[in-house]
Amino acid sequence: MKTNVLGIAFDNLSRTQAREAGAAMLASDRFHYVVTPNPEFILASEQDPEFRDIINRADLVLPDGVGVVYSARILGTPLQERVAGFDFACDMLEELDKLGGRLYLLGAKPGVAEQAGRAILERHPNIVVCGTHDGYFDDPVPVARDAAEARPDLIFVCLGAPKQEKWIARFGNLTGAKLAIGLGGALDVFAGNVERAPEAWQKVGMEWAYRLMKEPKRIGRMAKLPLVLVKAVGQRAAGGRRKER
Ligand code: UDP
Repeated sequence: MKTNVLGIAFDNLSRTQAREAGAAMLASDRFHYVVTPNPEFILASEQDPEFRDIINRADLVLPDGVGVVYSARILGTPLQERVAGFDFACDMLEELDKLGGRLYLLGAKPGVAEQAGRAILERHPNIVVCGTHDGYFDDPVPVARDAAEARPDLIFVCLGAPKQEKWIARFGNLTGAKLAIGLGGALDVFAGNVERAPEAWQKVGMEWAYRLMKEPKRIGRMAKLPLVLVKAVGQRAAGGRRKER
């Protein structure tokens, strides 16, 4: 069942349920894609209908940010839990490892995807890292060709939003993969260049604050995020007023 949060239709799943759904996609014989929107996606999609359509047509739409979870609660349609894109990616790697499947890594600065691939192989020796490409290219067509020639089962597309979702919508199916996931900065974390917040911070919904502490230059981007909560309050209040009439 989908839960609408300010125009984005989220899947209301636990992490375990998301993992089961993703595993079924990996074992299938057609292309699927998964998106992991945070509040920045919601704000961007308001100005970009193409981006919003791509998100809403995804096979799974997972609430990556705690701001999404709070907004859903404010709107009176709570989601079960935050399912971080990075956690979902880790679960898919475990599933791919069981299948001995093929992984393609796209995105981040030159060298990072290779480094991430080596780190992933250390933990999941049955996975075949069948190709990598950095995320700084002018022409997306040769990149898509390279990915298709690598014959992946799973692709991590880590170009930042909305670039990664638009790449997936245009080329994902052509790669022949079973599953593509838009994952933002995940390759930097797999490569060990960026540290994720400790679990204690994640549990209390403060991963964003940890990130801000580590990367203070994100303050400009993050300053907009409370806007999503304000919009949710506004929508809830408007709904209440409509009901009273
Ligand atoms: N990135 C990229 N190509 C671009 C722009 C960004 O590969 O043209 C990469 C960037 O190096 C980083 C990732 O995309 O690894 C996304 O970073 P961002 O901070 O936007 O994502 P978030 O961590 O918020 O999900």
